[in-house]
Amino acid sequence: MVGLSDVTNLIDGRAVPARSGAWLEKIRPADETVLCRVARSDADDVADAVAAARAAQPAWAERTAVARGDIVRELALLLRARREEAAAIVAEETGKSLALALGEADAAVEMGLFIAGEGRRSYGRTTTASMANRTVLTMRQPLGVAALIMSFNTPLPNVAWKAFPAIFCGNAAVVKPSEHTPASASFFAELALEVGVAPGVLNVVHGLGSEAGAALVDHPDVGLVSFTGSAATGRSINAAAARRLAKTCLELGGKNALVVCDDADLDRAVEWVLASAFSNAGQRCASASRIVVFDAVYDAFRERLVDAVAAVDSQPVISRESMERILEAVARARTAGAIVLAGGTRLEQPGWRVAPTVVEGATPDAEISRVELFGPVTVLYRVADLDDAIALVNDSPYGLTAAIHTASVHRAMRFAERVQAGVVVVNAGTHGSEPHMGFGGVKDSGTGWREAGIESLDVYSDPKVVNLVVDPTKA
Ligand code: NAD
Repeated sequence: MVGLSDVTNLIDGRAVPARSGAWLEKIRPADETVLCRVARSDADDVADAVAAARAAQPAWAERTAVARGDIVRELALLLRARREEAAAIVAEETGKSLALALGEADAAVEMGLFIAGEGRRSYGRTTTASMANRTVLTMRQPLGVAALIMSFNTPLPNVAWKAFPAIFCGNAAVVKPSEHTPASASFFAELALEVGVAPGVLNVVHGLGSEAGAALVDHPDVGLVSFTGSAATGRSINAAAARRLAKTCLELGGKNALVVCDDADLDRAVEWVLASAFSNAGQRCASASRIVVFDAVYDAFRERLVDAVAAVDSQPVISRESMERILEAVARARTAGAIVLAGGTRLEQPGWRVAPTVVEGATPDAEISRVELFGPVTVLYRVADLDDAIALVNDSPYGLTAAIHTASVHRAMRFAERVQAGVVVVNAGTHGSEPHMGFGGVKDSGTGWREAGIESLDVYSDPKVVNLVVDPTKA
């Protein structure tokens, strides 16, 4: 067990408690014991961090993209070397297995290595001009101070997906990690200092969203708010940032559907549903919470799924409130007429564990069909054919990921073309992307940006067009 001491802020390269001296208590999801105290920051701490970032940013941006890419690479390599330590912290904070946490540490490393390569690959464009004697080219400019606010679900990748491209693009950043996973973000930022990211370039301010988070969004010197979390919080952040016309990138929730056609391999489809709906206790933005099954195979599929659910290894959810919210939503669905085929209860084990839950008989407009639960709950729906399936998948406020299981290329392509989602998967799970693939969604799942991939550079930089008169004597 990792002995974590107090988790302080990291401002201008120094570990400091909140100015007010206030702390939050962090509880372990796996057994409800106290893990550590966490700085409970407010607007004063945010102001210190933003000032440090603002002061450090110009010199950082003066370094070449190649030099910044080199430092990003060093940070990724140090994280790889310390992956077991990082994963142990994540496992303590979240209650997830060490194996899962190690996989996430590796995913964070890969994001760093991908972004590091951009140091020697950040291509721009040259273009034509209507007047003679001109060259026109594009270059990227940093935004200044970036606020990076994120969820708890995969703490290391969540920091990595934002911090690597943010600093690579020449910004300084203030990270506001989830109050549920503070220590892993601090660990990441400490490694950054070790490899030579200048003090002030990557700061961490801990605390509650309504206090530290809101103050960061409102700070006039923050040029970009990059947020990963719920649609409700995203809406309030967007409204606040809009008041001062700050750029916002919002990566929000999902109500991801997985379609099982009548020509699907049912055993493989069951395996992918289990992985998609229940891994990480369903706390994935890409979690498959709606399973849309053709009538012809519905009964056979349901039987196999319910049998297989019994063997799922359950992991705790992040908090008592989360557990109660999930169980109450399932109870309301039952009251409204849905049938709970498996789970729907708290497991009689230590920690905040919800039994993997499968529901059927909910209407498409029921709360459980539309509201993201962010827990191990999935709902089965019966449809006649592909058109019905596509209509049902698209009948959702969200549009993050979607999957289809079919032997038909024609069906797969039709689904891919018509489904409202940022990521479509054929014959596998609803899952996220690799570091070189842009990830994001449509509708309530985001505001149109893509994180990861070279698309992430568009989030963390502004384009600049340079219009150059080559020979001034001819101008
Ligand atoms: P959340 O919205 O409650 O919190 C996310 C972060 O925002 C936390 O750090 C929190 O402290 C902060 N916050 C809360 N209120 C704030 C405010 N008023 N101003 C500024 N910051 C504030 O979400 P969560 O429960 O941590 O995460 C779950 C959600 O995240 C789900 O909806 C999930 O789908 C989504 N998510 C999306 C992606 C993606 O890439 N699209 C990835 C992971 C998680």
